[in-house]
Amino acid sequence: MHEPQCTRELSLPDEAATQRLGGLLARCIRPGLVIYLEGDLGAGKTTLVRALLRALGHTGPVKSPTYALVEVYVISSLYLYHFDFYRFGSPEEFVDAGLGEYFRGDSVCLVEWPEKAAGYVPPADLRLAVGHEPPGRRCRPLACSEEGQQCLTRLYAAWDAADSCISPGRP
Ligand code: ADP
Ligand code: MG
Repeated sequence: MHEPQCTRELSLPDEAATQRLGGLLARCIRPGLVIYLEGDLGAGKTTLVRALLRALGHTGPVKSPTYALVEVYVISSLYLYHFDFYRFGSPEEFVDAGLGEYFRGDSVCLVEWPEKAAGYVPPADLRLAVGHEPPGRRCRPLACSEEGQQCLTRLYAAWDAADSCISPGRP
C-alpha cells in the first residue's frame, strides 16, 4: 500500500495559475487514473478541470456537473468523466445512480466532492486539495498509488519547467 504524503504546496496566486496547473495536468494524466479534487465551494476545482479539458483540445462548454452528477468527454479516444457529488444527500446515491461503471482502466475520472460518496466512490490515485490563500489559492497534491505518484512526478517536472520559463531570472 502506497503511503500518501504531501511533499509540496503549489501556490496559485490568480485564476491564470489555476488554469496553468490544469493545463499541465492534462499532459500528465494516463488512462485509469482517479483524481479527487478537494476543497470548498469556489476553490477552483471546476476551473482546473476546464483548463485541463481545454488543453486536451476540447472546445465546447465545460459545465459544472453539480446537477448532472457527471459530464462525459471523449477526446482522442480518451474517456474523461468529471463528477461532482456536492448535492448528494447520502453516499449511497453513488450506487443508486450507477456511477461505478464509469471507473474503468480506459477512463480518467476527475471527482469533485468525493467525500460525499465516501465508501462507494473508488479510491483516488491522486488527490488535489485546493484551498483559499487570499487573494488566490494553493494546491496540495497527494499521491495515493504508484500511478498517482508517477502522474505527480510528471506534474512537478512540468510545473517547475513552466515556472523557470515564467521567472527566468530567479536564482
Ligand atoms: P469550485 O469548482 O471549486 O467550486 P470554481 O472553479 O467553480 O470552484 O470557481 C472558482 C472561482 O474562483 C472562479 O470564479 C475562478 O475565477 C476563481 N479562481 C480560480 N482559481 C483562482 C485563483 N488561483 N485565484 C483567484 N481566483 C481563482
Ligand atoms: Mg465545481
